Amino acid sequence: MKTVAEQKVIRYRGTELNTKGWQQEAALRMLMNNLDPEVAEHPEKLVVYGGIGKAARNWESFDAIVRSLKELENDETLLVQSGKPVAIFKSHTDAPRVLIANSNIVPAYANWDTFHELDKKGLMMYGQMTAGSWIYIGSQGIVQGTYETFVELAKKHFNGSLQGTITVTAGLGGMGGAQPLAVTMAGGVCIGIEVDETRIDRRIETRYTDVKTDSLEEAIRLAEEAKATGKALSIGLLGNAADILPEMIARNFIPEVLTDQTSAHDPLNGYIPSKMSLEEAEKLRTNDPDGYVKLSKASMAQHVRAMLEMMEKGAITFDYGNNIRQVAKDEGVENAFDFPGFVPAYIRPQFCEGKGPFRWVALSGDPEDIYKLDEAILREFSYNEHLCNWIRMAQDKIEFQGLPSRICWFGYGERARFGKIINDMVASGELSAPIVIGRDHLDSGSVASPNRETEAMKDGSDVVADWPILNAMINAVGGATWVSLHHGGGVGMGYSIHSGVVIVADGTKEAEIRLERVLTTDPGMGIARHADAGYEIAQRTAREKGVNIPMLDK
Ligand code: NAD
Repeated sequence: MKTVAEQKVIRYRGTELNTKGWQQEAALRMLMNNLDPEVAEHPEKLVVYGGIGKAARNWESFDAIVRSLKELENDETLLVQSGKPVAIFKSHTDAPRVLIANSNIVPAYANWDTFHELDKKGLMMYGQMTAGSWIYIGSQGIVQGTYETFVELAKKHFNGSLQGTITVTAGLGGMGGAQPLAVTMAGGVCIGIEVDETRIDRRIETRYTDVKTDSLEEAIRLAEEAKATGKALSIGLLGNAADILPEMIARNFIPEVLTDQTSAHDPLNGYIPSKMSLEEAEKLRTNDPDGYVKLSKASMAQHVRAMLEMMEKGAITFDYGNNIRQVAKDEGVENAFDFPGFVPAYIRPQFCEGKGPFRWVALSGDPEDIYKLDEAILREFSYNEHLCNWIRMAQDKIEFQGLPSRICWFGYGERARFGKIINDMVASGELSAPIVIGRDHLDSGSVASPNRETEAMKDGSDVVADWPILNAMINAVGGATWVSLHHGGGVGMGYSIHSGVVIVADGTKEAEIRLERVLTTDPGMGIARHADAGYEIAQRTAREKGVNIPMLDK
């Protein structure tokens, strides 16, 4: 018998429309793609990635969204509230076809308890970042960001390469699963600790991880052998990070690099407590959620204490955007924030130039469309050696999941230029169908997240959440195809507000104008946000590229 997901999630491909226009079609295909079993972590629960990040509130809402998209006219806009379609209004042809708000709670109530209460009553869902905004493309969506982070780390600490170093991390889920591949792409050895064997198997099937073992001894032996010979290797180690890290310390094994991507942002659904099997965890989560959360948080404290000890013993340690330091601090680990987050440590200079994880997806389903766009990048951006290397490496090493897609860190100016190139290639028939262009919410001007994207801002504006709201508004005004505003995301309830944007290149003149507008304002917000906070790179970029910031030189 087919599961609900197998019955309802349809892989629309080719050039035939199932809706009244390519913009609606793009939203429909991307919603389906988010839940494609090749892409989503738990499609039967509508869970895409990142703990309980969902694409629709429930199957009834999913059906209604699909129906609405199929009926939606080219001058109408569908409104989606936490995964449920709530209204269709007449707008105009240049307006977004869909506007999405996910998991937003009035600030004084913005915590997990309120969320769970609302979730239980069927009033809300967790949108994560790209799950509820229908632009998740599997682990391939984060792999370049992860690679950029490790390359920056290597530049800072190891002369530019991870060769001859071991990185220990945990969590090989939807996003965390990109870590082993990113580390090996940067030349290093990775031990990825994961408590759920099926997740390791999935990473091996998709070539994100090379080998697996359930023995710590074997993992250390394999890692040290590879390190000694300068070989790149990734090892999935079955176990619980809160238990394995102290065991590593007891064996005097200290890696060169240490981080973590378990879903610590969600103590109830994302993190497995120490010494607990998956079955026991599932039972306790249902029977005694409060007891579960207590154990889960205590284990995170144990996990972070071990990270701090490894850091003292020489491991370059950083938080990888899952809010684990905050939980540990709340549990009494006073110095939990002694290791930095990855944004202030490695990524912020790129954000200052409006650079971030830009992505595009071939709605045709034909990988050839992506390969043709790879060639266009190699031709048109040949001066950017780093970018061209990335494209060649991605072609060689990254498996497509669901609709063929590509990711690449483009900045201000480059995004708009590439948007036009794509649109022209659709118009000329070089590509077999329209392309959908989007990005992660984790981007330069689209997030307020004091423990992650806006940690340690120069002017102390870490918690100011006006920026993502302005970002969503200007992108909607510019004519993005769909725009979303979420709360929670990768760091959990109460810790972030962020916005998403997706736009279709369908080869029309109208799309060309919209693309130029949106792909300029969106990264432009990143420059404006960082220039305002006093970052010189952003201020210089604004002057050089002509981003008009009224008080910049006053
Ligand atoms: P996911 O829920 O798909 O995967 C989390 C994985 O952690 C699961 O496979 C789970 O089995 C494993 N796990 C849980 N507890 C464990 C433990 N104690 N020991 C070992 N493994 C354990 O989530 P994801 O999409 O991979 O995201 C992981 C985290 O990273 C989230 O908190 C997310 O918000 C954050 N994130 C960070 C970035 C970034 O670029 N920094 C991007 C996306 C997501």
